[in-house]
Amino acid sequence: MTNTAAASHRPTPAIEAMNLLWITAGLGCDGDTIAITAATQPSLEDLVRGVLPDVPRLNFHNPVLAYENGDEYLDICHRAAEGRLDPLILVVEGSIPNEKNKDEGFWAAMGVDKATGQPITTCEWIDRIAPHAWAVVAAGTCATYGGIHAMEGNPTGCMGLADYLGWQWKSKSGIPIVCVPGCPVQPDNFMETLLYLLRQAGGSAPMIPLDEALRPTWLFSQTVHEGCDRGGRYEQAQFTDVYGNEQCIVKLGCWGPVVQCNVGKRGWMGGVGGCPNVGGVCIGCTMPGFPDKFMPFMDEPPGAKLSTRAVSMYGKTVHALRGFTRASLNREPEWRRSAEDKSV
Ligand code: SF4
Ligand code: SF4
Ligand code: SF4
Repeated sequence: MTNTAAASHRPTPAIEAMNLLWITAGLGCDGDTIAITAATQPSLEDLVRGVLPDVPRLNFHNPVLAYENGDEYLDICHRAAEGRLDPLILVVEGSIPNEKNKDEGFWAAMGVDKATGQPITTCEWIDRIAPHAWAVVAAGTCATYGGIHAMEGNPTGCMGLADYLGWQWKSKSGIPIVCVPGCPVQPDNFMETLLYLLRQAGGSAPMIPLDEALRPTWLFSQTVHEGCDRGGRYEQAQFTDVYGNEQCIVKLGCWGPVVQCNVGKRGWMGGVGGCPNVGGVCIGCTMPGFPDKFMPFMDEPPGAKLSTRAVSMYGKTVHALRGFTRASLNREPEWRRSAEDKSV
């Protein structure tokens, strides 16, 4: 079958192209924007060039990566706010501040309103654009649940997108807010979520499945521990209290056994890395309780003392017994060895 013939049998996507407007004007560091440039499953370039069959092409607008700047870039935002960038996925990066907790000034803004001469706050942009969006996505922990900027005592009162718009909020097409947490977001986790939404928009995927924290279920249903390279060390009670070796680092503060995140299994870039795999304790950055409930970061988690004590009771014995078995399995069966070799 020729390529042309194969193409003629493909279903036509319900839409040819999807616009994506990415706001980085929350309280954040643009780290999620930088992170997704490392994605390969799919890459940003794949979606922008529209090379995947039956997936609408992406018209991508992000101020950090855009060629346009100044008024030329803001024109795209104004078109989105007026409903003239349709269909549209709105992506928000960075925490959303509480602009009502002070008498004057503002915490975060982008551009100037020509009519009033006043800065347009990030909250105003979200208020104007979100009602026109086919879907709204929060990228990174700041935008999903508030993240570092929302920790107790911060003056901005900032919060995640679901706290700002409401956890029951739905887009005009009936899609809840889609949260892809991580500080920064794991590159392929974000791009795979985007690919899913494009497939949904194109008519080839059902409603995106989300958990109670609005995370894509297939990405966040397992713990770090379940995919960690050091999982076998934990099971055999090989715990370390110093950095720089291959043993389990739970006593150094790793929260992996209870944190829902797939970087242990997926790695960070091209399958390489992933916090505990490369010796960094998991501090729970994909969880709504981050950071307050995970601090102080370098202390052994409260439940770890009990669980490691329980594992130690059988883990060391199991490890020793496995050592005997492995030594035996490393020798050929006796009948394959010559009489001379058997004497060795
Ligand atoms: Fe930066 Fe992390 Fe916040 Fe993303 S979640 S904006 S990487 S601090
Ligand atoms: Fe589990 Fe962390 Fe140990 Fe990995 S390093 S096995 S995630 S406790
Ligand atoms: Fe965040 Fe832990 Fe996942 Fe690393 S392993 S990205 S610290 S949740």
